Amino acid sequence: MKGRNERGQFVKGHSVLPGSEKGWFEKGSTLWVGKKHTEETKEKIRKVIKEKGLGLQKGENHINWKGGISPLAMQIRHCFKYCQWRSNIFTRDNFTCTRCGQEGEYLEAHHYPMAFSRILETYQIKTMEEALSCEKLWDINNGKALCRECHDKTKPGKPRKEWKCTIIGKGPGWEHAPVEGETWGLNDLLLYRPLKLTFEMHDIDKFRTRTTNAYVGLCDAFEREIDTINELGIPVVTQKKHKLLPTAIPFPLDKMPVKYFTSSIAYMVAYAVYKEATEIEIYGCPLLAKEEYNEQRQCIEFWIGYAMGKGIKVTVHKPTNILTAKPHMGLYGYEWDNWGNIV
Ligand SMILES: [Zn+2]
Repeated sequence: MKGRNERGQFVKGHSVLPGSEKGWFEKGSTLWVGKKHTEETKEKIRKVIKEKGLGLQKGENHINWKGGISPLAMQIRHCFKYCQWRSNIFTRDNFTCTRCGQEGEYLEAHHYPMAFSRILETYQIKTMEEALSCEKLWDINNGKALCRECHDKTKPGKPRKEWKCTIIGKGPGWEHAPVEGETWGLNDLLLYRPLKLTFEMHDIDKFRTRTTNAYVGLCDAFEREIDTINELGIPVVTQKKHKLLPTAIPFPLDKMPVKYFTSSIAYMVAYAVYKEATEIEIYGCPLLAKEEYNEQRQCIEFWIGYAMGKGIKVTVHKPTNILTAKPHMGLYGYEWDNWGNIV
């Protein structure tokens, strides 16, 4: 491979991008040279670094801490032969996580049944040369493709990754949802704001074949939604894979503890639990008094209860009647006199 040595490491002067023999930045690039932050900006940056604990950290506190991995292990994992081994495993496993069946997710190759550290120990690998000649290390029958979450589960004692999932409905209040972070939306919401993941739980073919007048407008929006998903390359959770949507991730219905779903928001909350979010915030989901929303509300509340029971913090932003008694009900007992009147 051009620009690499026999170990697959990049050699000095290798080409990173086509047409750029020196890499991304040429010497003397004026991209940032000469520009200086004002004192005010510097102070802001310092404040953010301090608040978020982003300062220079070493060892266990460093974000790249790999649990004490040795320089040799690191070198092995970054060599060309390792890339080939990984790629062969992904191809054999059809780019699918062998544990949860998730496709189109970020995959990692896991040494299995004999773990990577076990191989180094058993075969007493001390140098890169020993590693390259150790057949067990490069045996694709001792490896499997796993998604990041499933791979993390194979590492005992690894702390659960803290992350917040922001679920955004299309009702009033959706505009208050933050732009940053793991933002999930549904249907055509992505035409109006950025999203990290979108949900389209309707049957795509049935939707597209509806041609009665009542649905023409809806179909137009649907076509625009599909075009936008593909243009932006956003992952979309759907019932199943579909040729129109290469980024589709089938909803893991088989993995759900109960098949009870009456709205997209319910699927979204269940999916956030499945993806092991540690916090869920919901915006734009008022479900105000409308009769047809009663069944949706019950189901969303069930999945929120399920999430909370797993220790996930859940916040539903106003306006909403989710997790609230109707105003005229008050809080049973506390806000009632004993004759059925709110006091
Ligand atoms: Zn998985």
